[in-house]
Amino acid sequence: MAPRTISDFIHSLPKTEIHIHAEATVSFDSYFALNRKYGMDPSLKGPADFRKLLAMDSLGAMIKNFLYLQTLFRAPEDFALVVPDVEAYARRNNVRYMETFVAPSMVLKQGGIDFKGILDPLVEGFDRLASSGGPDVRLIVDVSRTFGPENAKRNVDHVLRYLGNRSTDRVIGIGLGGSEAGNPCAPYKAVFAAAREAGLRVVAHAGEEVGPESIRDAVAELGAERIGHGTSAVQDPALMDLLAERAIPLEVCPASNVITGKYVRRYEEHPLRAFFDRGMLVTLNTDDPVLFEVELDEEFRRVAEKLAFDRAGIVKLLENGIRATFMDEAGKKAARERLAAAAKALA
Ligand SMILES: [Zn+2]
Repeated sequence: MAPRTISDFIHSLPKTEIHIHAEATVSFDSYFALNRKYGMDPSLKGPADFRKLLAMDSLGAMIKNFLYLQTLFRAPEDFALVVPDVEAYARRNNVRYMETFVAPSMVLKQGGIDFKGILDPLVEGFDRLASSGGPDVRLIVDVSRTFGPENAKRNVDHVLRYLGNRSTDRVIGIGLGGSEAGNPCAPYKAVFAAAREAGLRVVAHAGEEVGPESIRDAVAELGAERIGHGTSAVQDPALMDLLAERAIPLEVCPASNVITGKYVRRYEEHPLRAFFDRGMLVTLNTDDPVLFEVELDEEFRRVAEKLAFDRAGIVKLLENGIRATFMDEAGKKAARERLAAAAKALA
């Protein structure tokens, strides 16, 4: 039986998500509990008051807010709070597989917790979730370009030491997030080469607040396997063709781009549609669901309504999402079959 509405259709399809930050998938309830625990801001009287912190109109403001939220995480049990919130998000949106960023830099700088204290609660929590039939959540460590290449190198060393001491397939790679403007990729080249050499998957935010040259930079200097955002690629047809030919996935996050407002002011003007029509491997993601107050089902509803994606287009975006993950081939095959069966049942 065909579902009544596009919302039902979207929700009923199993999804993957590959550009989402764990600390920004935490609920206002959890933020508030941490705020109270550490006596951070007594003017916040309840979870809903956190919303006022999240008003933003630029990427700079967003990064500032995000760094502030990270200062609320100071102990392993704080990171354990992330797991049920990520699980609830995934279940609300029928997300079956997720690759989420976790950003240790600010937390480690603050002191009082080591890398293992950050990762262990996440690895153990997501292991438990997967083994009980819940969503399969993998971690990509954001080594950050806000704090410079030495800090990034320390983060990669932490990851490699962690994986040397613990056999886990939860931690799959590194990403370069943080401030893109004024921070080109060249100083991070050696760090990323070492990570690739060690078998880590590598991705980078690029083309979110800097032009297409930043995307070329991430591919050439870092060997980035996926591009986070990639919005400014629309200014460079030769780059779009290169990304399409090499099937380099773009982790597109339209709501995030509209709110931070660098290249896109209105959802209807987002280049996702142009990228898709050009045959680029585009995927749909939310970036920071709590900061942008958007979840994945809603993001799909918006592309259906504002960027004219019909049901076949939505399924194609979800197929791209599976292809762009770092799952092994058996995992991708199973996810494709699950998606195809759900789409068929809804036809
Ligand atoms: Zn991001």
